[in-house]
Amino acid sequence: MPVTCAIGLGSNLGDPRAQLARAFEGLSALPGTRLVARSSLYQSVAVGPTQPDYLNACALLHTSLEPLALLDQLQAIEQAHKRERLTHWGPRTLDLDLLLYGNQRIDLPRLTVPHAYLCERNFVLYPLHEIYPQACLPDGRTLASLLEQCTMKGLSRLETDAPDS
Ligand code: ATP
Ligand code: CA
Ligand code: CA
Repeated sequence: MPVTCAIGLGSNLGDPRAQLARAFEGLSALPGTRLVARSSLYQSVAVGPTQPDYLNACALLHTSLEPLALLDQLQAIEQAHKRERLTHWGPRTLDLDLLLYGNQRIDLPRLTVPHAYLCERNFVLYPLHEIYPQACLPDGRTLASLLEQCTMKGLSRLETDAPDS
């Protein structure tokens, strides 16, 4: 039985718009997986060291991959974008985070689900709400209730056909 999963995408190096487009293609080509929905693109002011703004988006998958196998696949897509980890929270060509895996809570050395900062990041909550408004966390909190406490500070939704800026 496929599980509904949410993925957060981010990029702020190279050509973020092209990289997110390729990342969506990579997600749709994963084995045992269907890309069910993709959000609009959002621009966000970066957390951490001074660096360019991010482009962010979320994807909704139906997958029969187990959680760690899915994480491996996400990291393989990151590597295909020549992702380098230079500094913690530093700039990157592509970041793919597993936000939700069905209604499961996962606490492994390599994988924490729901994603540790899901509840406090507007650049995750807003795009996720666009494609998965009925989302619920394993502890019973709804995405809608989290959004009520979360402003759009530093975040803007890009029109689909807006020119690069
Ligand atoms: P943040 O977690 O604050 O978003 P980050 O995305 O910059 O930070 P990374 O350097 O991309 O962090 O990942 C560090 C490690 O986090 C990965 O090697 C991975 O094993 C682990 N990790 C734990 N939980 C998750 C998750 N839900 N999704 C993706 N990676 C995760
Ligand atoms: Ca991240
Ligand atoms: Ca990550």
